[in-house]
Formats: sequence, structure tokens, C-alpha cells
Amino acid sequence: MSEIKENLEKIRDRISTAARRAGRSADSVRLVAVSKKMPFEKVQEAMACGQMLFGESYLQEARQKIASIGAGPTWHFIGHVQSNKAKGAAELFDTIETVDRLKLARELDRNLAEAGRQMSILIQINIGREAQKSGVLPEGAEALLAKINELPNLQIKGLMTMPPFLPDPEAVRPYFRQLRLLAEKLEKSGLLGLHGKVELSMGMSGDFEVAIEEGATLVRVGTAIFGDRPY
Ligand SMILES: *Cc1c(COP(=O)(O)O)cnc(C)c1O
Repeated sequence: MSEIKENLEKIRDRISTAARRAGRSADSVRLVAVSKKMPFEKVQEAMACGQMLFGESYLQEARQKIASIGAGPTWHFIGHVQSNKAKGAAELFDTIETVDRLKLARELDRNLAEAGRQMSILIQINIGREAQKSGVLPEGAEALLAKINELPNLQIKGLMTMPPFLPDPEAVRPYFRQLRLLAEKLEKSGLLGLHGKVELSMGMSGDFEVAIEEGATLVRVGTAIFGDRPY
């Protein structure tokens, strides 16, 4: 059995177990296979094992990979989007998980209007308030969501976060919990949940089980599937 296949099976098992432990159904969590820096052959290998949802972080790299692979999988953008790259991002991706400012949202909306379509987005929250990280601060989320909800071509599906990097997954738990509580608050205020069930994108290779216990509906897993990135 190929390594990717073995890894995917293990991760799917661990996702189901964590979901059940949290009293949730296994299919309430979707696995985003993060294929950044991985050649398209690895993506195809994962597709052969039934994985059809991928995350990419770099626009130029993703453009080539998606062109090589063609129609089939669903692609989420999980990297930083410069506002002047909004057009490309809007063309390539099903969902952009990292919308964190109004300028970018407006650019996306304008490009989508020209293309005559709508797209799903997540709002990236800087839950750990780290200076070097992207994302809107928790206290800025309400105002940002209110504004973005006015844009006709963007549908806010939920929140995404990259918490502080801490080797012990239990140390990250409070941040995951804070994201869930923030989402609940925004939903109560009528700012979130306008386009179906609220998505929470949180958890990576080292901590996705804890994230699921805290309510993740999307986990973004790279190295645990594909191995160490080549650069
Ligand atoms: C690279 C990346 C991941 C995956 O990280 P792994 O530790 O390889 O699982 C998840 N989310 C984002 C935003 C990333 O950039």
C-alpha cells in the first residue's frame, strides 16, 4: 500500500474517533488535504484514494497544479491573499478560507461580479493575537462580517484560524475553543450562519483531534498525509 494511502486511512480513522469522542458524527468533519509544495502526482495519488478536497497556500503554484489536474477535486485557498491577486484567487478556488479584511473582500466581490458568480469564503481570525499572523482580531470580527455580508457575491460560511504554534496540542485547545465561542456569538448576532451550517476550519497535522473535540468542521492536514514538504 502506498504511503499516502496508508496515511489517509489512518487520518480518517483518527478523525472519526475524535468526532465520536466529542459526540459528533464522523461526517461532520471534512478533511482538507494540504498539498502545498507537493507535486501534482501526489495530489493524484490522494485522489485515487478518494480524497477530493485540497488546500493550497500559494497562488502561482496552485494555478499550475490545478491546470495539470483538471476538473474533479475541490480546492480551498488557505494562504495569504494580496488584494491585487484577488482576481486569480477568485477564478481558481471554490472557497477562500483566509479573507481577513474588507479591501480584499471588495476586490473579490468585484471580480466575482464580472465573472457572474458567487463564492464561499471563511473569515480568518487571529485568535492568538500574534503580530506576525494574518487574520482579523476577534474584536474586529463583528464589524468586518457586517460589511462583508453586504457584498452580494461572497457567502461567509464560517471562520478559520491558525492558532499560535505550540508543540503540545492540549496547549492549543483554548484557542480552538475561543474560535468556536466567537462563532457562536457571531451566529447569535445574526452575522454568521446566513449560508448554512457554520464551518470552523481549525486543526493541522499536530492537533486536528483536539480541534475536532472543540468543534472543527474542516481540518487542514498536510505533512501527516504527504510527509515533510520538500522545501
Ligand atoms: C501548511 C498549512 C497547513 C498544514 O500544516 P501541516 O502541519 O503540514 O498539517 C494547515 N493550514 C495552513 C493555513 C497551512 O499553511
